[in-house]
Amino acid sequence: MVTQSQDLDLLLGSLGSIGEVAITVKELFSSLGVECNILELDQVDDGANVQEVLSEITNQRTVPNIFVNKIHMGGCDRTFQAHQSGLLQKLLQEDSTYDYDLIVIGGGSGGLACAQEAAILGKKVMVLDFVVPSPQGTSWGLGGTCVNVGCVPKKLMHQAALLGQALSDSRKFGWEYNQQVKHNWEIMTEAIQNHIGSLNWSYRLSLREKTVAYVNSYGEFVKHHKIKATNGKGQETCYTAAKFVIATGERPRYLGIQGDKEYCITSDDLFSLPYCPGKTLVVGASYVALECAGFLAGVGLDVTVMVRSILLRGFDQEMAEKVGSYMEQHGVKFLRKFIPVMVQQLEKGSPGKLKVVAKSTEGPETIEGIYNTVLLAIGRDSSTRKIGLEKIGVKINEKSGKIPVNDMEQTNVPYVYAVGDVLEGKLELTPVAIQAGKLLARRLFGGRLEKCDYINVPTTVFTPLEYGCCGLSEEKAIEVHKKENLEVYHTLFWPLEWTVAGRDNNTCYAKIICNKFDNNRVIGFHILGPNAGEVTQGFAAAMKCGLTKQLLDDTIGIHPTCGEVFTTLEITKSSGLDISQKGC
Ligand code: FAD
Ligand code: NAP
Repeated sequence: MVTQSQDLDLLLGSLGSIGEVAITVKELFSSLGVECNILELDQVDDGANVQEVLSEITNQRTVPNIFVNKIHMGGCDRTFQAHQSGLLQKLLQEDSTYDYDLIVIGGGSGGLACAQEAAILGKKVMVLDFVVPSPQGTSWGLGGTCVNVGCVPKKLMHQAALLGQALSDSRKFGWEYNQQVKHNWEIMTEAIQNHIGSLNWSYRLSLREKTVAYVNSYGEFVKHHKIKATNGKGQETCYTAAKFVIATGERPRYLGIQGDKEYCITSDDLFSLPYCPGKTLVVGASYVALECAGFLAGVGLDVTVMVRSILLRGFDQEMAEKVGSYMEQHGVKFLRKFIPVMVQQLEKGSPGKLKVVAKSTEGPETIEGIYNTVLLAIGRDSSTRKIGLEKIGVKINEKSGKIPVNDMEQTNVPYVYAVGDVLEGKLELTPVAIQAGKLLARRLFGGRLEKCDYINVPTTVFTPLEYGCCGLSEEKAIEVHKKENLEVYHTLFWPLEWTVAGRDNNTCYAKIICNKFDNNRVIGFHILGPNAGEVTQGFAAAMKCGLTKQLLDDTIGIHPTCGEVFTTLEITKSSGLDISQKGC
């Protein structure tokens, strides 16, 4: 228990003399009846060093430099502001039975958002983040999946592939170049990894600025309110907190067949692979598989996707098939209805040579193929089974490992919450994790009530031709609302940029699904086309506001864009009218 006399940990006078300001702060604390520990820098031998270290920790060079209950308060102005707002009094009264008000396990999208928001609200927060190396030995820095092995490197590699496409289009626009153009994997990867390194650093800095304690250790509950943190050297330290947030995310799944962990890579390894993967087999057919297959083919590699059942399960299947057929036209091979049963190394190397034996899901047929790299993208497992949840009674779904929570992200153990990819039945997307984490902190510590709205979350699959959507797939809409209650408007379209470039005029596609019995409200939005992510974002906001077909018709388009196509949709699917675009 921290005593009153320990409430205020440090009050620094200016070097040389105690400034008048410091005296004023002293008076403030004395008027509040708080005893402080005061370190007068001009009265200690190593005052200059202390000031140096403090300025590093707090990003503040000036004095007085004030900590309350080990939370950095700032200087004189901030202390008086905190007093005026009542925050200072709250901090002084804090229940200090525990080391922290909040410990967040997992420093990814959700965990960092929650921790930082809680710290902004004046709480004493710790984040534990530790990356267990992949079976191939890959690990990374602070920031979680999105920054290190997800959205960020994926989108940058997608961009590398789009630039390749732009290069070939550019000749039609008059660019002349004689040099043979080829792609260099090492240069791309190094540049992307450098960017990621800067993001890792900025996250650390941001935590420091907000006085969130960051510990690079693996967290595991040992008993109620107590966690054991084990660092890379195996050193263990225990910490206690009043509240916990689990934000440990997921890691790629393996097939469990001979040779998979030894010879295959996953998305955890791909983005920092120090050599070009060469001829690649991608196993899986959802977001990760198709996006990776897309950019690998886009940078010139020979790519095959092995599909167990359907493309992009859960997505509108008409759109999914269009995504696949565009990829196929652009050189990606699809092996449908096969699953690998064995991976064998034929040659070592960077890359080496692997033989893959696969069997049909429909009959006894088996096939073999030789590849340089096998990328497994068959889904991800929640990192919840080795964090001591059983010690404190937090329930997980035994089959999936996911954590069920109520609509306040609270687990069955009242002081333990969870956000992000570990949640059962929620979308696994970075902005979802961030929103949930931020709102959770505000509810826990800021007196706010807003809950995370998981409905109508937009998303985009960054395949060579992007697919953006929001709301229901056509299949789901029919299941929920019945076909006769729906009107589907759709069209193929030809982006202006594609005309001169001589690209196909009947590939890009836009579709909305409307509920006829709710004012023709748009309940499903789908676009396959360039920059689909950018287009979808704005329409998602409109859907939040209750977008109807009439409102779309009343909206004036921006010409010439892809997005404007939604303001002029006339043909219903039920009419069966031709939606193809004329022109060559
Ligand atoms: P994470 O970001 O995974 O963070 C969890 C952190 O906790 C990790 O750092 C982990 O090492 C750490 N950890 C785990 N256990 C412990 C422990 N016991 N102690 C300490 N630390 C621990 N989403 C999008 O919105 N857009 C995209 O374009 C997109 N692309 C993606 C591409 C790929 C290849 C992948 C794999 C995912 C992609 N996602 C995308 C999904 C997105 O990355 C996740 O939804 C998001 O990162 C989830 O955040 P989180 O906080 O739940 O977990
Ligand atoms: P996923 O959506 O769970 O898909 C797994 C894929 O692997 C499916 O195609 C599945 O086929 C296949 N599969 C599973 N087990 C298999 C096996 N034993 N053999 C062969 N194939 C198998 O996983 P994911 O693609 O890894 O994505 C995980 C999450 O990350 C997504 O839900 C998404 O939210 C997020 N993400 C988002 C983005 C983005 O926003 N752009 C990008 C990437 C990832 P079946 O259909 O037959 O089951």
